[in-house]
Amino acid sequence: MKSIASILFWISFFAIMSCNKTAIEEVSKVESYAVSENTKWVRNLMADLTIEDKVGEMTQFSIDVLSAGKPYNLTEPHQLDERKMKKVLLELKAGSILNCGGHAYTREHWYHIMESIQEIATKQKASGIPVLYGIDAIHGTNYTIGATLFPQQLGQASTWNLELAEQCGEVTAYETRASAIPWDFAPVLDIGRDARWPRYWETYGEDVHLASQMGKAFVKGCQGDDVSDPYRIATTMKHFLGYSVTLRGKDRGQAWIPERQLLEYFVPTFQAAIDQGAKTIMINSGEMNGIPVHANKKILVDLLRDQMGFKGLAVTDWEDIGYLVDRHKIAKDFKEAIEISINAGIDMAMVPMDTLFPVLLKELVKEGKVPMSRINEAVERILLVKKELGLFENPIFPFENYDKFGGEEHRQMAYNAAAESIILLKNENNNLPFGESPGKILVTGPNADDLTALNGGWTGTWQGNNPEYSTKGKQTIVKAIEAEFGSENIIFSDGNDRDALINHANTVDRIVVCVGEKSYTEKPGDIDDLDIDPSQIALVKTLAEAGKPITLIITEGRPRIVRELVDHADGILLGFLPGDEGGLAIADIISGEVNPSGKLPVTYPKYANDLVTYDHKGTDLVHRDFSRNGFNPQWTFGHGLSYTTFDYKNLKINADSINMGQSMEISVELSNTGGLKGKEVVQLFVTDKVASITPSVKRLRGFKKIELDAGEAKTISFKLNTDDLSFVGIDNEWITEPGEFTVSIAGLKKDFILEN
Ligand code: BGC
Repeated sequence: MKSIASILFWISFFAIMSCNKTAIEEVSKVESYAVSENTKWVRNLMADLTIEDKVGEMTQFSIDVLSAGKPYNLTEPHQLDERKMKKVLLELKAGSILNCGGHAYTREHWYHIMESIQEIATKQKASGIPVLYGIDAIHGTNYTIGATLFPQQLGQASTWNLELAEQCGEVTAYETRASAIPWDFAPVLDIGRDARWPRYWETYGEDVHLASQMGKAFVKGCQGDDVSDPYRIATTMKHFLGYSVTLRGKDRGQAWIPERQLLEYFVPTFQAAIDQGAKTIMINSGEMNGIPVHANKKILVDLLRDQMGFKGLAVTDWEDIGYLVDRHKIAKDFKEAIEISINAGIDMAMVPMDTLFPVLLKELVKEGKVPMSRINEAVERILLVKKELGLFENPIFPFENYDKFGGEEHRQMAYNAAAESIILLKNENNNLPFGESPGKILVTGPNADDLTALNGGWTGTWQGNNPEYSTKGKQTIVKAIEAEFGSENIIFSDGNDRDALINHANTVDRIVVCVGEKSYTEKPGDIDDLDIDPSQIALVKTLAEAGKPITLIITEGRPRIVRELVDHADGILLGFLPGDEGGLAIADIISGEVNPSGKLPVTYPKYANDLVTYDHKGTDLVHRDFSRNGFNPQWTFGHGLSYTTFDYKNLKINADSINMGQSMEISVELSNTGGLKGKEVVQLFVTDKVASITPSVKRLRGFKKIELDAGEAKTISFKLNTDDLSFVGIDNEWITEPGEFTVSIAGLKKDFILEN
């Protein structure tokens, strides 16, 4: 072994010495990263740390453990408990705390919590190391009362607007630091390829390219160039890896994902965020191919560290080391579970309640079952994040420096994101917009007057379903419609009194029905049936009998099957989870003040037994009648109408053939042929005509969101590299094969050849 290693060393040494200057610079860049000033500083600090300090740093508790009352059932109003704080911070030397103990707090309360924790950690603990506090701020700072709430990620992806995703990152960072918290458990980089999954709406949708770009933009917005900045925070890429496609579509189930698919569909979003500099990563709670990811060294070290080059901190998800014992059953007790997971590459355990972790980890080190080198590696990563965040210098920043918190500038950004996230799926008989005098409108349906249904999970509370924690002053759909058209023109019915409802339906000029889902996340969001609630189908059918134009507003976290409703509605608007500004945005789209520009970031299925993504294979096209009509979704990926019309022509490529390594220019002429200003998303797809691994029918390789005035035209250009044509081949390596390809934009097509 030794001699092979030394041969390899000399081969690489000579390879480096004989290569050009740029390569040498690359090598020294890597080296300088390894011994950056911050790393040197951390190593110096570590020289003085005890084993207790180190295992403590690797421990993350929920705030419940430091608070008055019982975990999951704290005494109201929540207060820190001095005695418990001392035990956790001084005795157990916990390096990190998370969560909010059940519900959102004011900014003042957060500040007080953080001040008290950091005071003990930095002034009373011998090492003086500040605590790294983490929170799920997944669509804005959703655990601070009065914060700005953006659409959830699936809604953000529906905007196809990277600037808005970056702004969401910036505002989240600002308002989270304004709450004295420096670490965010976002973005979710799991790919949304199974609509049944209860966290589908936490993803950026089904497409690898779109999701990678959105994730990168969010990380950039959150972290900026320097996370020690008072308006920046560290992000967490989650949940690595393969969380989103469980066999049963339920949360935290087992997934079977072959290596090829893992590399092609699940790794790229994480790779893009790593390349953008994301500081931390959270591990998937589930098991993949029979191995819980928390115990899988191949994934956590060989793939994540060695292949993908991630250098930051890896934290477990909630209680997952414990679950290796009682759910996954690969460890006989907690101690063995700790041994397995730490040796597999976990740096920090989100324990989150059990205080035994640091004690048992120390024993494992003493017994030689967890090497000290592993502990040092983990602690160095943890301390480096703390150092980079500037926590040693500024554990918290002055409260008064954040006057933009929850203010108009941020609200406007969240409104823009909400407005661009709403998708016009259907618009017959000029159903929308209603214009200035739409007559009398009946507004009904379970989501018409429910702000929690616009925001979804992780809003005020974990499940997001407690209206007590809804942001004050924000409008539900019906309230916003009343404000828009005058409450005298609106009849609101909660639909409970069927006779009254029918009566109203017969008297009004038009009907708006708000259907979809209520708020949920994780396990409580598991469903047994993707069909929309039957009572909502019955409601729409009843209303249809009145023969009035019906506008359906769907707000939901995943595409529930609405096949039976579609024909009854003239107009359909879909807002996945548009957030606090969603009601207003929907009303503005209904009135015509805003021209809708959202596009589906997923394929909307028509049948629950036919969940197929847009980048499916040729075999998925074969219908039972042997025609090629087997792909039959309700609405296709990328679909979304506008109040104006767009026309595409003159698709051009600058060469009919290119060589490996070259790039190609593609352009198309886009014109706004309608009477209104509007935004269009130009989507560039590529099809590989023949490949050694069955090619997808098409894959998104570029997109641009463009605004055009009525009558305006623009030429939109893209650059395609040969890397954009690659895929994971038979040997599980990315390869690019020569051959024929087709580029397509909005149905226009051009063929080209990639020469060897
Ligand atoms: C979720 C994570 C979240 C963590 C901390 C877990 O249950 O899976 O996404 O970051 O809790 O709240």
